[in-house]
Amino acid sequence: MKNIKLAARNGRPPTVVKVGSVEVGGSFTVIAGPCAVESEEQTLKTAQAVKAAGANMLRGGAFKPRTSPYSFQGLGIEGLKILERARRETGLPVVTEVLDPRDVSWVAEYADMLQIGARNMQNFALLKEVGRVRRPVLLKRGMHSTLEEWLNCAEYVLGEGNPNVILCERGIRTFERYTRNTLDLCAVPALRELTHLPVIVDPTHATGKPSLVAPMSLGALAVGAQGIIVEVHCNPSEALCDADQALTVEMFGSLMRRLRPLEGFLAGQGREPEVAG
Ligand code: PEP
Ligand code: MN
Repeated sequence: MKNIKLAARNGRPPTVVKVGSVEVGGSFTVIAGPCAVESEEQTLKTAQAVKAAGANMLRGGAFKPRTSPYSFQGLGIEGLKILERARRETGLPVVTEVLDPRDVSWVAEYADMLQIGARNMQNFALLKEVGRVRRPVLLKRGMHSTLEEWLNCAEYVLGEGNPNVILCERGIRTFERYTRNTLDLCAVPALRELTHLPVIVDPTHATGKPSLVAPMSLGALAVGAQGIIVEVHCNPSEALCDADQALTVEMFGSLMRRLRPLEGFLAGQGREPEVAG
């Protein structure tokens, strides 16, 4: 990949991206929270529950990229204020999506990390804009993008002077219809060879099915992912966005109880799982 210069592994040590007090690329990072910020009560309740279960960071969209313009689009600035409150009450850093280059600088004042969603992976104006702010960037894989295209997008952000990029595999579109997308777990060890940037997995959007989130999270950890981002809702059936795929608080707790021992086991082996040197 000759155009991948700044993101390429090239013998560089793995990058650790600091998001608030959390070091992504250090120990396994669990990001959890609702798809969208819907209300103060829903967000705070969910934030407190994921914190109690051991999450390291809170997710929640204030701007939602919806397929239909008639669907809930997010609360905008109200949502960002709710996220600020959730951060204050839980101590969890927050990641939230930004859709429009014009919003980047002010959204960055509320968020600890800016998410670039799958639909915007190749929005080059947006990539350059998040490259110019100091906040870390969570760059999700486009649903029909190759690893090379994806790394080129990381290159856009890095090239503007922002070294804090985390890659997130969130499933790609294939002929399979049972799952929402197809989780390309192979991308994880492949990226660990190709780039020094941290790589995390979104098993929620990859599968679209709550029952598949835990097994794919464990799989992600085993193949060398440095974290996961999972949708959790205090009352999934009432969710205004992605209701069918959110974990309940109980399911998230059970996932955490399976995940942490596997993390401990792999660490006890004295090696990172399945990562090329
Ligand atoms: C999300 O995280 O809620 C989201 C919209 O994800 P993606 O961009 O991966 O579809
Ligand atoms: Mn979602």
